[in-house]
Amino acid sequence: MQHQDHTGETERALLELLIQAAPVGIALVDHEFRYLRVNERLAALNGLPVAEHIGRTAFELFPELSRLWEPLWRQVLTTGEPVIGHDLSAEFEGEQRSARVSYYPVRAGDGPLLGVGILVEETTSQHRAGAERERLLAAERRARAQAEAAVRVRDAFLSIAAHELKNPLASLLGQAQLTRRRAEGEGLSEATRRSLDVIGGQATRLARMIDDLLDLSRLEQGQLTLVRAILCLSELVRRVSGEIAAAAGPVTVSLSADTAQLWVSGDAGRLEQVISNLVSNAVRYSHPGGTVSVTLTREGQTARLLVSDQGIGIPAEALPRLFEPFYRAPNAESHHTSGIGIGLAIVHEIVVQHDGTIAVQSELGRGSSFTVALPLMDKDEG
Ligand code: ADP
Repeated sequence: MQHQDHTGETERALLELLIQAAPVGIALVDHEFRYLRVNERLAALNGLPVAEHIGRTAFELFPELSRLWEPLWRQVLTTGEPVIGHDLSAEFEGEQRSARVSYYPVRAGDGPLLGVGILVEETTSQHRAGAERERLLAAERRARAQAEAAVRVRDAFLSIAAHELKNPLASLLGQAQLTRRRAEGEGLSEATRRSLDVIGGQATRLARMIDDLLDLSRLEQGQLTLVRAILCLSELVRRVSGEIAAAAGPVTVSLSADTAQLWVSGDAGRLEQVISNLVSNAVRYSHPGGTVSVTLTREGQTARLLVSDQGIGIPAEALPRLFEPFYRAPNAESHHTSGIGIGLAIVHEIVVQHDGTIAVQSELGRGSSFTVALPLMDKDEG
């Protein structure tokens, strides 16, 4: 008997420990919502010592909060069913706090209901972390929307400005050519001829820049599309590099192309742009007296165009960014070569759209080589 009592006492003490040490708030209230038992955690959550709870009603102690709890406790008492995992949120001691609560009926065996068992787990910090995550996500969404809107405005501006600039420029160029032709008959002075050449040359440069800007805005909107036809790449390379050679001034452009005609399925205008950009870059970044060599060869089913110069070269750290829009290697500025850094981005896109690849090798101060590989047509004439 004594032995049993002792066991009973030990068990009660253990149970008491278990309740007191629990990391969740535990309490029992009777039918009038008077606290019968409260553990330390719940007392701490409520901000009152355990002893001050016992025998007092929830309404006496927490008139505001009990308005939230009591309907749920009443529901447990009337239905005899538990309320599990209910989220409550309220301002408590000047702070917004939240908790997940479970309320359940407590009865001794088959006897009448003794009251409501209460389990409370505070979730304020999870809620705060969740709210912070939401806030950051919303800020990120806003920032992305703003950035996208800015890009749309920029693209619209680029394309409107470029279109609007094109017409007056074309008329300027036309007038310069007309004046030159007219004046030639009347014996043009050398100085006037040079001025008209400068006007014509600069207007052509501007027109090319505008075309590049328009292409870039097409590229960024995914609208740089190809009109493909079967064409002879060898002829195209010969013609375009010949034209640039004629105007290359103190730089020599030498061409060596396979005698074979290499046929590709491609957009003639766009491929011309690729060749023209690479060869004129090689000329622009060369030193006077330098040589640019343009080589077209066949390797299996691939046409390989190599454009090499002995010019200023490109610093190694600039190579990975060379095909990005608006990127210019630092030494381009010091070489006093003007440009806006769009050409290679467009060249890259055109080559990729032709299922080809482009690569660059360069040594600072020694020169650069750009290699374009394009798939050949099956029925090319070798
Ligand atoms: P741009 O020449 O108008 O600046 P590109 O897009 O054609 O623009 O070229 C991007 C950059 O790549 C240039 O600013 C230059 O730094 C570098 N680059 C291109 N081709 C050469 C070359 N042949 N030699 C040296 N640097 C080059």
